[in-house]
Amino acid sequence: MHTGRIHSLETFGTVDGPGIRFVLFMQGCALQCRYCHNPDSWDMTGGKSFTVEEILAEMEPYVDYYRSSGGGITVTGGEPTLQAPFVAELFRECKERWGLHTALDSSGFCDPHHAEALLSVTDLVLLDLKYMDSEGHRQLTTQPNERILNFARHLSQRGIPMWIRRVLVPGLTDNAADLLALGRFISGLRKVERVEVLPYHRMGVFKWQQLNRDYTLEGWREPTTNEVERAVKWIEQGRSAGAALHSRQPRERAT
Ligand code: SF4
Repeated sequence: MHTGRIHSLETFGTVDGPGIRFVLFMQGCALQCRYCHNPDSWDMTGGKSFTVEEILAEMEPYVDYYRSSGGGITVTGGEPTLQAPFVAELFRECKERWGLHTALDSSGFCDPHHAEALLSVTDLVLLDLKYMDSEGHRQLTTQPNERILNFARHLSQRGIPMWIRRVLVPGLTDNAADLLALGRFISGLRKVERVEVLPYHRMGVFKWQQLNRDYTLEGWREPTTNEVERAVKWIEQGRSAGAALHSRQPRERAT
């Protein structure tokens, strides 16, 4: 039985997938997003070690709530694919014992072959597409985004349902060009069930201070409702433009 390094857990999550969910936060992340509200989850050696059986015991008293609400389990982080064998075993057990729905909340910074066993027991991926321009992505997270976009294409090819998410920071991740590009990219993916724009918030700033890390978004503000709505419109415009392009392409190839 695998053990995993766990940051924390929540027994009644309602925002990371459908219904009421058990939410498990894994320890370890290879990105360092400037707006991260869990920088204490980055270090792979932090957190506490749990076996799959110990996590299942935490879940067991609440399983009826998860099932009757159409919920299940969501594993997030940190980055859950860094501990893919542990999460795969946990998901498999949740399905075999209780028939639960499984969701993986990932940055997508993962080679698909590393996550094959995990993806075979994953019903939904919540995928953050933080920035479409790769250099901008590197400045935001310390890493380029090609691997993440490849992971998204792989999920699409496998037909795994996705909820795509973008954290909106005014002046940083909310420019029209990048949101239109995000919409165009999404239009080329199968099984995107939902696109969510998540307003940047400052709830984790105190953790950066506790860890003696420089918080480089000091003084940056949360977006207004109008800014969030405008971002949603730009993404939808990009999706429509991309869909129109895809629908023309087969005819153009045929002639
Ligand atoms: S991917 Fe998530 S956990 Fe990792 S640095 Fe970014 S926001 Fe934080």
